[in-house]
Amino acid sequence: MPRQRLALVRNQEQDGLAWLTAADDAIIVCRGSHHDWPRIIPHVPIPRNVSVRPQRDGCVRMVEYCGGDCGTSRWKETRPGGVWDRDAHYRYEYDADRYRSPKDSGVSRGDAAQELFRRNQEALMALARRPSAVPVPVFQTGG
Ligand SMILES: [Zn+2]
Repeated sequence: MPRQRLALVRNQEQDGLAWLTAADDAIIVCRGSHHDWPRIIPHVPIPRNVSVRPQRDGCVRMVEYCGGDCGTSRWKETRPGGVWDRDAHYRYEYDADRYRSPKDSGVSRGDAAQELFRRNQEALMALARRPSAVPVPVFQTGG
């Protein structure tokens, strides 16, 4: 890799690392693990972080807000008449300045999971050292 290109990649990686270490806990949890989407369960009141909005032609937009305080929401719409559209995909909305890592920094879900672990490492290791902690059996995988 040419020297200039290598320097650019290093700077982008450093930007990513700086972003990871400075990001809010809520962002690291959702980027490194998963969002806390509401669960819609029959015979249980619809969670407060779900909204349903009528659209044109009798379509309905269902919006779900992440309960993890990352500020992300997702939505999908029904077909006219409120008919479920099994081919509809969620569309996501979020505060790009807060949620998105620097362009071309290469920050992955795995990087965020590693940062999430780093922030919780002390507490997790303390749990492992408790007398009541029982070793988990190790199973061989693969062949
Ligand atoms: Zn989230």
